[in-house]
Amino acid sequence: MKLVLASSNQGKLEELRSLLADNGIELIAQSDLGVEDAEETGATFIENALIKARHATLVTGLPALADDSGICVDALNGAPGLYSARYAGEHGNASRNIDKLLETMRELPDQERGAHFYCVLVLLRHADDPQPLIVEGQWNGSILRERRGGGGHGYDPVFFDPLHGQSAAEMEMELKNRLSHRGQALARLKQRLPHL
Ligand code: IMP
Repeated sequence: MKLVLASSNQGKLEELRSLLADNGIELIAQSDLGVEDAEETGATFIENALIKARHATLVTGLPALADDSGICVDALNGAPGLYSARYAGEHGNASRNIDKLLETMRELPDQERGAHFYCVLVLLRHADDPQPLIVEGQWNGSILRERRGGGGHGYDPVFFDPLHGQSAAEMEMELKNRLSHRGQALARLKQRLPHL
């Protein structure tokens, strides 16, 4: 079975490709099929993932998988949320995004710094599929006052996991993949795929 991935991120493609190979699924990047990125006009992560998956399946005629993720701070009503990648204005500038988040939260005491990473994966079998497969993952923690650790990407240096006493950027890759929002969503996807 061929499945198109509604993302142009090479890292996600490789990660998902190895996971899905076991299920006999060949994952193809939408860019390899000439599909442009869809405009993410939804108001929630799930809506944006659905928009991306529907666009990819409409253009290619293949089933499509899309993901959406971000970091949500309780005291900020879930911000940066959908805008995690461009919180400071420029898409994907992790350093400026972290600076803005730390500055916004400067006055917040420790007990009000709760946050979580969230990831949703959506699989549409065709453009009119009334029953998309939707799996989620959430990783609870808090936002540090300054960066810790040199690994990871995005908001990892300021996301602290209290159960493990480490920031996401201090963790071994294997541990982070097991705990993370994306790791949890992927594990659930893998469980559900055979039932499709
Ligand atoms: P996207 O779903 O790949 O577009 O990710 C949205 C944004 O959320 C990324 O650009 C990061 O800023 C943030 N993000 C999502 N997952 C992670 C993570 O595991 N670590 C750090 N930042 C993340």
